Amino acid sequence: MTPSHPTQRPTDAAYLDDRQPDLPTDLLTLPWIDVHNHAHTLSWNDRERYALSGCRSMIMVASGYHWTPYKPVRASDVRFLWDDAINRRAAIERNHFFEAKIGLGINTGARIENPNELLDAMDDYCALDEVVAIGETGVTPSQHVSSWNADHQQAVVQAQMEIAADHDLPVILHTPNRSDDSERSYRPELGTPGYEKNVELDQDSVIDGENPELEAVKLDVEAMRDAGLADERVVASHADGNNTEYLMDDTDCYLSYTIGNAWLIGVSIADVADAIDRYGPERIMIDTDCANVLRTDPFSLKRAIFELYRYGIDESAIRTVVFENPRDVFGLAEQHSG
Ligand SMILES: [Zn+2]
Repeated sequence: MTPSHPTQRPTDAAYLDDRQPDLPTDLLTLPWIDVHNHAHTLSWNDRERYALSGCRSMIMVASGYHWTPYKPVRASDVRFLWDDAINRRAAIERNHFFEAKIGLGINTGARIENPNELLDAMDDYCALDEVVAIGETGVTPSQHVSSWNADHQQAVVQAQMEIAADHDLPVILHTPNRSDDSERSYRPELGTPGYEKNVELDQDSVIDGENPELEAVKLDVEAMRDAGLADERVVASHADGNNTEYLMDDTDCYLSYTIGNAWLIGVSIADVADAIDRYGPERIMIDTDCANVLRTDPFSLKRAIFELYRYGIDESAIRTVVFENPRDVFGLAEQHSG
């Protein structure tokens, strides 16, 4: 062997041949969009992490019941959440440079006593430039604090979809997940580590059957059709192995895989890569769903970009998934886009 390096004795460099993998350095600066998070509930440092890792735009979803102190939840509590996000938004943008828009809606994860008050108010909120989506919303098998029967939930979801259709806004659907039973469970009184929720307040499922999580999605799709909202205006967040095939085969909705709290949702980047292989990137997105009540990771989307490439997904498909699809569906990243 002819010495190739001035090292004292041969190192790996002396044995490896000249073949270099083709490293796509464009991925280092690929802009990405997070279409579902609750970043306005995070810390300044967490929001900075989004900026540091190249987030171009995000949709801060202001419809989580988690943040209302009073139970049962009233319309005025949810209005406060909407207003709180509107109040913080501009300062968040100015501090961190990424575009921060808002999604607002009625999350049926807790029964709201007077939802019509919210539906009546929503019209005016939807006229705001910073409101780019309605949601997250979607029929949920079991509520926090107090149950909401499936028919009533579906009606509230449909009413929001009608408002979305009127304003030509997309809807971020919250789809429930079916988690695999792990071999061992935690002490029930402690809840799920990673999710700061008082599980004693969780109610029994209002949907019967073998697969209530999928049934819930089917009720959402029925509501979408009845509302006259186009499939392409619905982004099903928390897509998972339980609902991907149904949503891909029976609808033209977008599927957004939540990867910022994989321990909760049960979806890995490998699952996302498999979905891209099987269905193509055209209807797929990724979101972080980072929120202050959850163990979540603002770097997860940037990390997913490299991981998808390692799993064999090509650069243009990655760009479609993390940037172009969310840009086009939500009308984001229009100013100064590089
Ligand atoms: Zn969320």
